[in-house]
Amino acid sequence: MPIDESTSPIVEAVHRVRGEIATLARRAGRAPDTVRLVAVSKTHGAERVAAALAAGQTAFGENTMQEAMTKIPVFAGRGLEWHFIGHLQSNKAKFLPGHFAWWHSLDSIALAQRVARYARAAGTSLQTLIEVNVSAEPSKHGVAPPSLYGLVESLLQANLTALSLRGLMAIAPNSADEGPRQRAFAYLRELLEGCQTRFGLHGFNELSMGMSDDYRAAIQEGATLVRLGSAIFGAREKR
Ligand SMILES: *Cc1c(COP(=O)(O)O)cnc(C)c1O
Repeated sequence: MPIDESTSPIVEAVHRVRGEIATLARRAGRAPDTVRLVAVSKTHGAERVAAALAAGQTAFGENTMQEAMTKIPVFAGRGLEWHFIGHLQSNKAKFLPGHFAWWHSLDSIALAQRVARYARAAGTSLQTLIEVNVSAEPSKHGVAPPSLYGLVESLLQANLTALSLRGLMAIAPNSADEGPRQRAFAYLRELLEGCQTRFGLHGFNELSMGMSDDYRAAIQEGATLVRLGSAIFGAREKR
């Protein structure tokens, strides 16, 4: 898939955004490579993924299984790392292992057990993040903050070896102001620290937070994975 006039802005955007992420990380007193960019390619076709790949981007995010399953096989064997960032319907759980390396949206023990069973059967494991509904909005998925420790306890008891528990994920509240978003990111970091203190989990240190409009604040608050769609690919296409 050639890079042409319609996709070259993507190449530039990847370079620009990566540069900015590095600057923001340094400004926050962090090494640039502690913040990884997940390019959210949902609604965008394979030729746009190819453009980002040409710019050196290898981590990509998708939020529906149906769309992901048409795109992921196009790049088989090319070293891409796919992140599932949407709400997972239980009837799609079987497709997660095998297509994705990372799962950002674990929010129930039943779903975790289901995914773990399929991963084990497929002989793979998934890097897994627990999604927290930090703003307690009814429209959002994720475990409510007061139920987080209980969920982690159940996960540890269930001993799901095919799921490698790596940290937390959140979507900031829909707000025009930076304030509530920044507080939501700080809160997610506190919850991560709470889990670390309480459970002493090895490697549980990832914070997936920050999208195109708010990744600067997220990096300030400790994001290790930022999920950017429109900043890389431009406005979303209609599905
Ligand atoms: C779409 C999406 C993103 C990227 O959103 P942009 O605003 O385009 O950067 C990040 N995270 C999740 C969960 C998404 O669904």
